[in-house]
Amino acid sequence: NNVFDVLIIGAGPIGLASGIEAQKAGLSHIILEKGCLVNSLFNYPINMTFFSSSERLEIGDTPFVTSLPKPKRAEALEYYRRINNKFKLNTHLFEEVIDVRKENAVFRATSTKHSYFAKSIIVATGFYDVPLLLNIPGEELPKVVHYYDDPHYYANQRVLVVGASNSSVDAALETYRKGAHVTMVVRGPEISPRVKYWVKPDIENRIASGEIDVFYNSTVEKIEDSQVVIKSPDGLRTVPNDFVLALTGYQPNFEFLKQLGITVPDIAPRIPIHNPDTMETNVENLYLAGVVCGGLNTHLWFIENSRIHAELIIADIQTKRLH
Ligand code: FAD
Repeated sequence: NNVFDVLIIGAGPIGLASGIEAQKAGLSHIILEKGCLVNSLFNYPINMTFFSSSERLEIGDTPFVTSLPKPKRAEALEYYRRINNKFKLNTHLFEEVIDVRKENAVFRATSTKHSYFAKSIIVATGFYDVPLLLNIPGEELPKVVHYYDDPHYYANQRVLVVGASNSSVDAALETYRKGAHVTMVVRGPEISPRVKYWVKPDIENRIASGEIDVFYNSTVEKIEDSQVVIKSPDGLRTVPNDFVLALTGYQPNFEFLKQLGITVPDIAPRIPIHNPDTMETNVENLYLAGVVCGGLNTHLWFIENSRIHAELIIADIQTKRLH
């Protein structure tokens, strides 16, 4: 049986960066991705603009050329596809890893299609697969979504947007501009200071002028077919409603990490145990790369500051080989 030097779980930007580093070091690699190439980015809102400028999204020392100040989702898809093809990465798509077992000193990774053997594993699974739920009655209704895609769908509808971070603000502004009647429910007293600096005045002005309604210091109490109940400082408020965009964040798949033997504390921020210098977890030769390693702190790691993980990991694997 063929034993790969490195098996990478996830073909996001950091999984691809890990493949490139492995290749540079002369290590054989395979990347297994459960969806399409850069699946998380593919599932971002269709009009999404990155908050990072393009050079901060680059991997493999390859320029990401764009004429816009900040690249859009479609350009990032082009870029990472070209990267994958340019480096001839051994990427297998639509192949989910469902289990990893250590047999003697070698890992056996089982996907939905095959089993593979590898000396080292890099888990680069991101955090976009598991939404943070509101845990309220009515959340299971089909009109409630945790992933927002295309504003056209909500034209002339009464839309409730939950949350005040980038995803929520983008969705509120876009749907408002397609004729939705938008109400925002914000847990804190203001729009998040982390909202993209060029977008923040836009949402604040729409709110100030009454074009977008907002309930600050409020939460959603329950969701019904044609209305929602909001708990506000002025008591319970009932608002007519067609759709709820619950954009309250995402979390890594902790169950999957635990299944792999990685220790994940139960207490927030639930950062999976790893050595920040090498990215090795408590399981020898099993590494974390990319935004997955922030646990619930999903604002800590981005492409721009986590692409370095690929280099740290491959350097550690090389060092071990020499000793
Ligand atoms: P991901 O891109 O999430 O890749 C993980 C991959 O693993 C996915 O393709 C997933 O399908 C796959 N996977 C998961 N489980 C399995 C499994 N069991 N088997 C096989 N495959 C699996 N960051 C920035 O730096 N700049 C930005 O402007 C920016 N904007 C963002 C906007 C939005 C709306 C969101 C949600 C995030 C944004 N981020 C941004 C953060 C960004 O998502 C991450 O920085 C980036 O995607 C992280 O790359 P990654 O490779 O670590 O994880």
